[in-house]
Amino acid sequence: MGFLLLHLCFLSLLLIVFTAAVHGANSSAFRTSIPRDLYHSSGALLNEIKALVGRHPDVLTMETMRADNKGYAAEIVVVTYNHVKKQTSNKSKFRILLSFGQHGRELITSEVALHLLSVLAREQKILSMKPASFNKILENIVIKVVPMENLNGRKLVEAGDLCERRNGRGVDLNRNWSVDWGKKEKDYDPYEENPGIAPFSEPEAQIMRKLTKSFEPHIWVNVHSGMEALFMPYDHKNSTPSGLTSRLMRSMLQDLNHRYFQDKCLIGSGGGSVGYLAHGTTTDYMYDIAKVPMAFTFEIYGDLSASSKDCFKMFNPVDKVTFNTVLNKWVATFLMLFEMVPSRIDSIHLAVSAVKWVPIGGNVVDGSLIGDSRESKKIEGLELGMQELRTYFRLFLLSSVLLMFMFCSRISKSKCRPTYSNLSI
Ligand SMILES: [Zn+2]
Repeated sequence: MGFLLLHLCFLSLLLIVFTAAVHGANSSAFRTSIPRDLYHSSGALLNEIKALVGRHPDVLTMETMRADNKGYAAEIVVVTYNHVKKQTSNKSKFRILLSFGQHGRELITSEVALHLLSVLAREQKILSMKPASFNKILENIVIKVVPMENLNGRKLVEAGDLCERRNGRGVDLNRNWSVDWGKKEKDYDPYEENPGIAPFSEPEAQIMRKLTKSFEPHIWVNVHSGMEALFMPYDHKNSTPSGLTSRLMRSMLQDLNHRYFQDKCLIGSGGGSVGYLAHGTTTDYMYDIAKVPMAFTFEIYGDLSASSKDCFKMFNPVDKVTFNTVLNKWVATFLMLFEMVPSRIDSIHLAVSAVKWVPIGGNVVDGSLIGDSRESKKIEGLELGMQELRTYFRLFLLSSVLLMFMFCSRISKSKCRPTYSNLSI
């Protein structure tokens, strides 16, 4: 009998080790690594932008803004496109601020920024657009592009932490702004949405706020990936602002959707459309506090069929055709957005006064699916002697503890949240 028990225990341990090994093998098999033939490293991308600006000093300028807080420093490169910068001041033109790469893992967004800048510099063409109309579109606007808002977080992704969306010290830069800051939903996960110790605790958010204050943009676009959508405020509640501003934003998004997405893109408030509420976001601040009349969040790509552990594939295209399609389609979308400006400028100016604060609304949450699975197993040992039963039970407890330990260590390492296949904004 004793021999039989020992044998059983040995078999159960083998089963545990085998299960853990298969689990590990499956998880790693689903993780796509960064296709280096498609994607620049952060350093290479910034060098390309620097070289591009160097080749086109007539229209492009570049600056690096820095800030630090409690031993953590960040720097953000800002590129300005100004068609006739020497003759007209920025303040007399229509101003557009675009930010890419706020979340580390969304590499495709920064590639779109580089492509957009190369199109603005006329090094690449948009086939659907004639040069004359292109010049006319850009004549009276100034565009500031932040190609990589979260350089420190992006470096963590490049070092292999492919699910990381937060900055270099674990704060989500799209939760660190002051509108409805710090509110946590039931399924709050610090690996994804840590808002920081206070609004604007993070140097990256401080830099972006400073840039916004000095530039005073008419249009703000926060560019993300994880799905395809055109969002307007609010992210922190399930509603859009009221009045003229809201109607204008919606009509602009509808036009873009019709022209480039066959009306298939998701449109509306971030909080109402994305499936979760987001508190302390940049776009809500831009609209409510900075009074940017047109504040948007564009979600430019998402693979909803990708495994929730395969972060790179969830947020970024992995084949060349899709990669190029995303680049061309979204740069064309931005140019159409710029094209809309002259025809709507009076309405937009009128809308500025219509922007007003509306208090917090709905409370839409999707439930957490992270289960606390506790198994209780009973041993039936009627035919066993008490001594043997105790030995068996001890060994069983030992293997259960071992199994729980392995299970928990895997959970704590995972940065992907199983509830959302794609937490994007
Ligand atoms: Zn994002």
